[in-house]
Amino acid sequence: MTNENLPVVTLEHAKKAFGSVEVLKDISLTVNRGDVLAIIGPSGGGKSTLLRCLTLLETLDAGDLSYGDLAVTRTDGAGRAVYGGKEVLAEAKTRFGLVFQNFNLFPHYTVLKNIADAPICVQKRPKDEVEAQARALLAKMGLAGKENMVPCELSGGQQQRVAIARALALNPDVLFFDEPTSALDPELTRDVLQVIRDLAAERMTMVIVTHEMGFARDVADHLIFMDDGRVVESGRAADVINNPAHERTRAFLANYE
Ligand code: ADP
Ligand code: MG
Repeated sequence: MTNENLPVVTLEHAKKAFGSVEVLKDISLTVNRGDVLAIIGPSGGGKSTLLRCLTLLETLDAGDLSYGDLAVTRTDGAGRAVYGGKEVLAEAKTRFGLVFQNFNLFPHYTVLKNIADAPICVQKRPKDEVEAQARALLAKMGLAGKENMVPCELSGGQQQRVAIARALALNPDVLFFDEPTSALDPELTRDVLQVIRDLAAERMTMVIVTHEMGFARDVADHLIFMDDGRVVESGRAADVINNPAHERTRAFLANYE
């Protein structure tokens, strides 16, 4: 279990390049327990790469990443990020959940199996307990009674809420969302955002890449504006959105007025 007083996630001076293209140039961020951090910025700015590095789907070239007291990387003499061993990475993966833009449910699994599979097979938790939790999560997501359906029988918004239930079933310290509503029409978007609002009200720690500026302003505590692999501006979410300090932030936000 994570030390309650430490930030849930700490990233310092992260760098990542694909070939000669530097995608993350020097990114630092801290996520405290119970906080919601929104990440906004133009397409191609490195937001998804940042989330993929934080969730160990990509490796950092440089930078220090920790989950609570668990150091995932350390920096060697040449300034390169060196990852911890198998046990460290396995432990780190129990600390977070990830929700993608396109739901990424297993199409041939039922809703219940999509949610319960990893807790049973990876976390080795008792089937009865996990299935009870999965049903409770479905009820909370407004999806009671859908446990035996397969994803294609559900709307996009319902599928995304199953994906959120699946991430929550792993009891993570923090949930990451990469544009969770970008593939949804406005009506379905509303339902998914409401679920995330409810989680925020329960003080679930979350990091959300989003283009929903009103939502970010209302729900996030802190906000980062990223452009071209750097944090251009960060601060209280409402302050940055209502009163951006940098011209690039202002120009970006003007697209949403
Ligand atoms: P965002 O999510 O802010 O739109 P991304 O992190 O997806 O930005 O992309 C940032 C940059 O990194 C883009 O120029 C993109 O083309 C590049 N990129 C992302 N993933 C890869 C990859 N696997 N290989 C090469 N380039 C990539
Ligand atoms: Mg992206």
